[in-house]
Amino acid sequence: MPVTDAVKSELRRIVSDRGFRDEPEDLITHAYDGTPLLEHRPEAIVIPQSTEQVAAIVRLANDADFKIVPRGAGSGLSGGSVPVDNSVVVLLSPRREILEIDEANLTALVEPGVVTGTLADAVAARDLFYPPDPGSISICTLGGNVAEDSGGLRGLKYGVTHNYVMGLEVVTPTGEVLTTGGKAFKNVAGYRLHDVLVGSEGTLGIFTKILLRLLPRPQASQGVVAHFACLEEAATAVAGIIAAKITPAMMEFLDQTTIRCVEDFAKIGLPRDIGALLLMESDGHPAVVAEEAAQMEAICRRAGALHVAQAADPAEGERMKTARRSAFAALARLKPTTILEDATVPRSALPEMVARVEEVARRHGILLGTFGHAGDGNLHPTLCTDERDHEEIHRVETAFAEIFDIAIELGGTITGEHGVGLSKKPFLEKLVGPPGIRMMQDLKQVMDPRAVLNPGKIIEPRPRREGRLPNTQAEAEAMARSMMERP
Ligand SMILES: Cc1cc2nc3c(=O)[nH]c(=O)nc-3n(C[C@H](O)[C@H](O)[C@H](O)COP(=O)(O)OP(=O)(O)OC[C@H]3O[C@@H](n4cnc5c(N)ncnc54)[C@H](O)[C@@H]3O)c2cc1C
Repeated sequence: MPVTDAVKSELRRIVSDRGFRDEPEDLITHAYDGTPLLEHRPEAIVIPQSTEQVAAIVRLANDADFKIVPRGAGSGLSGGSVPVDNSVVVLLSPRREILEIDEANLTALVEPGVVTGTLADAVAARDLFYPPDPGSISICTLGGNVAEDSGGLRGLKYGVTHNYVMGLEVVTPTGEVLTTGGKAFKNVAGYRLHDVLVGSEGTLGIFTKILLRLLPRPQASQGVVAHFACLEEAATAVAGIIAAKITPAMMEFLDQTTIRCVEDFAKIGLPRDIGALLLMESDGHPAVVAEEAAQMEAICRRAGALHVAQAADPAEGERMKTARRSAFAALARLKPTTILEDATVPRSALPEMVARVEEVARRHGILLGTFGHAGDGNLHPTLCTDERDHEEIHRVETAFAEIFDIAIELGGTITGEHGVGLSKKPFLEKLVGPPGIRMMQDLKQVMDPRAVLNPGKIIEPRPRREGRLPNTQAEAEAMARSMMERP
């Protein structure tokens, strides 16, 4: 049901005129996130200036029966902030103050709109370290990271966002303000509510303040790059490094398609004819770093690497990481639509997973680039397609369904870090089973009895596509007819 003018006036009253937007250009630019094929215009966008304003908006949603979608930077890759169901977007990205960096307790208190890279730089200036580093580090917000439990390049050694969340200020789905956790390092008082809220994808609460754990900055780091003729040899090197009891701070791989695209995009001198590339980094005490880097180099050579080299200096190591972070953008240049997934398997199953994903893409005749976090089994098969070609999109979706089945069969998961959102909803039950879905639905019902927060996401039964794309050729034709009939 569309949001009424009376509700819009009340929202304006809460956030003032400058915090309320409903011009067409605002609605269009908040209709999607980083996920292709999903788009739905909101009814309005509100920009709260305080926790109290967020709580007042949520209470109004309960009273006046409309839906709310929290939004950070909109870089999500599962449609989490796509405002289906005539929702009002609550935009948190302008709330971007770092409220405190506590060097005695090694914590940072931030507003949800702080960009992850901004916090990382601010703490680095004090010789501290915030490890989670999604590829989107320069644009995504910490609120979005907590809601998606985002991972990144350093996941193998340092874990993911939930390993760093010590406390939260949350507006609950009924409009109360809840504070969980705190600076005490040990705290077992009651259920760990913030463990339920982290990764809840905006469906169980809106984070208004986030307390994060920091680490001392590693004294040294050393990057190592290795070129291989094929992915199997790169996988042998990864297995060898883990077997040698080394836990690298980063161990990323790129396949040939991705290498070529990154080189065309970033022009950093990568050879275009190799089959796979491993980017590794050791960090910590300088002596340990030197030893680990030398060991990783030797293991890669034994695995058959065509070329192995250590970064000449930290700047070169940083350039290597930037190249890896550009993989998605580089692949996106191949075709108009780029669909990136994050099926994840136990580390030991990675070579089989990569081979089977390639076979699926070949069988369906789809252009595929694969890269990802080799150390933690988190793969990013990226299918390059064209959303206007409905027949090919159908093949792409069939291929992804098969890829998720393979991940589950190999003991993995349908998503390692991007969340379920809208795009992976149809596959969740296969992973967690009917009791798992029921328990999640019960939890949602108890916490959000009027179902106001982030409709349609994770568990709500409805089709995968909520956006502008049809599911069948017949739907496509009907949609085309209705567009022609529009005045
Ligand atoms: C190029 C690229 C690379 C990426 N690399 C990675 C990667 O390496 N690892 C990784 O994990 N992800 C990655 N991502 C995905 C994405 O950046 C992350 O999911 C990120 O955490 C989303 O943050 P955001 O601020 O953009 O959130 P949004 O996309 O705006 O929202 C994401 C979800 O969080 C909810 N949300 C946002 N803010 C709040 C809040 N304050 N309170 C409650 N709920 C909220 C939304 O409702 C939505 O469900 C990548 C994306 C891109 C485009």
